[in-house]
Amino acid sequence: MGTQSCFSLQDFYGGSITARLAIAQMLYADLGLELGGGEAFAPMLVQAVILEKELAQVMAALDLGGLCTVCGAKDGGGCCSSFMAGENDVVQLLINLLAGVAVTAMREDAECCFLGERGCLLLFKPMFCLNYNCQQIRHGAGPARMQRLDQVVGLLLQQQYAMEQLLLEVLRKRGTLIG
Ligand code: SF4
Ligand code: SF4
Repeated sequence: MGTQSCFSLQDFYGGSITARLAIAQMLYADLGLELGGGEAFAPMLVQAVILEKELAQVMAALDLGGLCTVCGAKDGGGCCSSFMAGENDVVQLLINLLAGVAVTAMREDAECCFLGERGCLLLFKPMFCLNYNCQQIRHGAGPARMQRLDQVVGLLLQQQYAMEQLLLEVLRKRGTLIG
């Protein structure tokens, strides 16, 4: 693919996760420097990384990693399925690449292709993944800690949305995205 390739919203949000990942990787290879170094985008990404670190701290305090690892190791356990992988879109995968995450499909089974041995590979996850907390987690955390978790998730999602909108605008302006 050259930088003159263009895509539709269907390419970005429809199609298989394999196809979306391939487009994100191609855009990153061709336009990574231009997009990542953008005057408006770069500081937004810095702020998103700060928010993600804050979220990671809140999640660690709740031992969500431990809970999900134990759950995922059980037969039929875990909730990171191959179906859920379909929640990832091209721009959100591109944002991960721009943040330095080596986004790749790590598996081809019934689990999400981004689920590695140490959990989710992605720094910036889809909205559904960030918002989903099972009963076990909600009960274990209690209302006050869940409120804090929801608050930080909300801030991160807002930031991810703003970055996504900005990248869509830039891609439209340069003719890479039609529609
Ligand atoms: S969110 Fe709940 S169901 Fe999903 S892996 Fe974690 S503990 Fe299991
Ligand atoms: S949290 Fe990560 S590994 Fe789990 S379904 Fe979402 S993208 Fe996949």
